[in-house]
Amino acid sequence: MKHIGTTLGLALLGLAAGMHPAPTLAQASKPRILVLATGGTIAQTDTKEAKLLGDALVGAVPQLKDLAQVQAEQVAQVSSPDIAPEIWLRLAKRINEALASNDVDGVVVTHGTDTLEETAYFLDLVVKNDKPVVVVGSMRGSSAPSADGPANLIDAVAIAASPAARGNGVLVTLNDTIQSARDVTKTNTTSLDTFKSPDFGALGIVQGGKPTFYRHASRRHTTATEFDVASLTALPKVAIVYSYVGVDADAFEQAVRSEAKGVVYAGTGNGSIPKAVQGAAASAAKGGVVVVRASRVNGGVVERNGEHDDAALGTVTADSLNPQKARVLVMLGLTKTNDAGEMQRMFDMY
Ligand code: ASP
Repeated sequence: MKHIGTTLGLALLGLAAGMHPAPTLAQASKPRILVLATGGTIAQTDTKEAKLLGDALVGAVPQLKDLAQVQAEQVAQVSSPDIAPEIWLRLAKRINEALASNDVDGVVVTHGTDTLEETAYFLDLVVKNDKPVVVVGSMRGSSAPSADGPANLIDAVAIAASPAARGNGVLVTLNDTIQSARDVTKTNTTSLDTFKSPDFGALGIVQGGKPTFYRHASRRHTTATEFDVASLTALPKVAIVYSYVGVDADAFEQAVRSEAKGVVYAGTGNGSIPKAVQGAAASAAKGGVVVVRASRVNGGVVERNGEHDDAALGTVTADSLNPQKARVLVMLGLTKTNDAGEMQRMFDMY
């Protein structure tokens, strides 16, 4: 992370020492928002590398100071396929520390869009504060003719500065939408309108710079979860195994051999596990591996005892969490228990 010293965030927001005068009186009364930068396309200039943002983007976001007093820190500088659990833990601990202080009213996390939904859901389960946390990315780099980073960042700061955002769990914004971290997923490889919550819809919108909420997240999150990262230095290994016509048990068995403590099976339809894999799944579950039936279908709830007798197989069902989100919950669940019944309780609750 050779950029830590100079920080993307500081360059992005033009807040490096000496670059800006002290806040005016009007600004001093504005909410204090901490931006934690992790890399991704929102940090790209003219190459594929996440690096310091150029003057063009800095010049494009002077509006931020009308919304909030913004400070920035670099937590990582990676493309989001390279986000690792170690970065999640660092990020979550920094957020909890910052929000516990009276000097920070909300946090914005800048992140690559590929795995943004996973980081957002992880934070949704481990942030221990009601203050807003908003995860934001961009689909286009700052040198693209229609860069979306500046507008998305302005929206993110507006949401984090909004009292209405408190208590809604971790939020995600791109393309003027406000989405719940639990429900949102990237639905299109390149479109600006890619972040959607297929089952339940967005929580709100940002229009004319004003965030408005139309519904609230009702599954437990943040202060109402049982998870605590304070003493964690690593997370349990959990694999995802994908189903398809003609699949055999090899990939499942390999996951168990590689010492995964949990396996999320991205089954077909309503979370089906084909006969060829059921034996491996049942014996893994019997051996104490948490086996979760999720679906490769992008929407809907995997019903307990729907396609299979889950008690007999020893499996847990993922509710409406997609496989990558189910994996996040299993990783955290395993910090408490590997009991299938307890794990099912968590899937029914979070
Ligand atoms: N590859 C990038 C990432 O996820 C894509 C993006 O940020 O939009 O970091």
